[in-house]
Amino acid sequence: MEIAEMLERRRIDICCLQETRWKSNGVCHVNSDKEKYKLFWNGQKTAKNGFGVFVRELLAQEVLGIKRINSRLIELNGHVGEKTDGFDNVHGGFGYGKRNEDGNRIFEFAESHGFCLLNIYFRKRLEHLITYKSGPSATQIDFFAVKQPHRRLFKNVKVIPGESCILAGAHINDVTSHKQTALHLACLHGHSHIVSILIGNNINVNAIDDTLNNALHVACQYGHLDVVKVLLTQSDINIASRNSKGYNPLHVLGHHSKESSSLIFDLFIRSFPQYPVDQVDANGNSVLMLAYFNGNSSLCRAIVKHGATLGTKNKEGMSIFNAPVATKQLLFKMLDMLKKEPPWTDGENCLQCDVKFGLTTRKHHCRHCGRLLCSRCSAKEVPIIKFELTKPVRVCDLCFDVLSLSSH
Ligand SMILES: [Zn+2]
Ligand SMILES: [Zn+2]
Repeated sequence: MEIAEMLERRRIDICCLQETRWKSNGVCHVNSDKEKYKLFWNGQKTAKNGFGVFVRELLAQEVLGIKRINSRLIELNGHVGEKTDGFDNVHGGFGYGKRNEDGNRIFEFAESHGFCLLNIYFRKRLEHLITYKSGPSATQIDFFAVKQPHRRLFKNVKVIPGESCILAGAHINDVTSHKQTALHLACLHGHSHIVSILIGNNINVNAIDDTLNNALHVACQYGHLDVVKVLLTQSDINIASRNSKGYNPLHVLGHHSKESSSLIFDLFIRSFPQYPVDQVDANGNSVLMLAYFNGNSSLCRAIVKHGATLGTKNKEGMSIFNAPVATKQLLFKMLDMLKKEPPWTDGENCLQCDVKFGLTTRKHHCRHCGRLLCSRCSAKEVPIIKFELTKPVRVCDLCFDVLSLSSH
């Protein structure tokens, strides 16, 4: 097998594979030309989050048993002795980066079970410590734990970048029954390091699943900011692709309200200032409308701040101005925070009273919210100092109230 050959070439005694997709548990022999390895593998019924450990045959004889703790942790319950040469081993006390919440939990777990984390007992070049790299940010997130008394038996621990294993496994564009690729699944689970590796191995980033979602739709749906960042900066994915509901990735963001949605929106706009923010889905909803109907106030504020159109009406005649919501507080807040005149809306009917425009009923606009209105619905006049409109201009009743109460 290709993996066994890679292990032989690199003179590796023990090798852990993550995210394998083999079902159930088992042990088997895998041989390269010169070396014999024993593979202990552990999967789940769903064939997700699997785990495999290759051990050189000589050492494998001393493995007493495998104890499964959970899908993420496996304990090698045996004596793994004898060094092989060819490795520089210098004892350091070195990890990488700052420790976070999860880092503390790893240390707590290790301590309470009498493990030590082998990776940080060896001084390494940076690229061998870092197992997740995305643009300027990098972290060490994979650890190899052994029982403390056995630590001195190990001479080196090394993370081999994902390329090797993916190339050994081939079939990078295989799909599930819902036509999801590995990229869709990595985006769904928020595995940004895997997304990065898949892109580096030329996976088809524009593959669509059976509801026409590409990887960006999926990352937005689940609110994975890090994944969106990798997709936008490391690939040339179609950023305005439409799914079966006519949603572009930002519509998905508005439809699935997540805490990170506004940060993801800001990231989109920073990366693509010309993004068509006012584009509507198959029902005529803009991302602002979807975010508003879902009550995602931080996303609404981010969209308004960017200068989106406010007055858009969907196919059912609903807009953010007439939507049946419990309180108009968010709408007030959005109008109050306007810093520049939003784009004007157009149409054949007044957006407030629905009268049809014609020879006697002329079109007007509220100079504050940009809505298309008849003269009766934009009868009040007031200067708008924040827009540098010092002479009185037409505004709707709602904007008149907002401007009167405004702190600006
Ligand atoms: Zn009107
Ligand atoms: Zn108005």
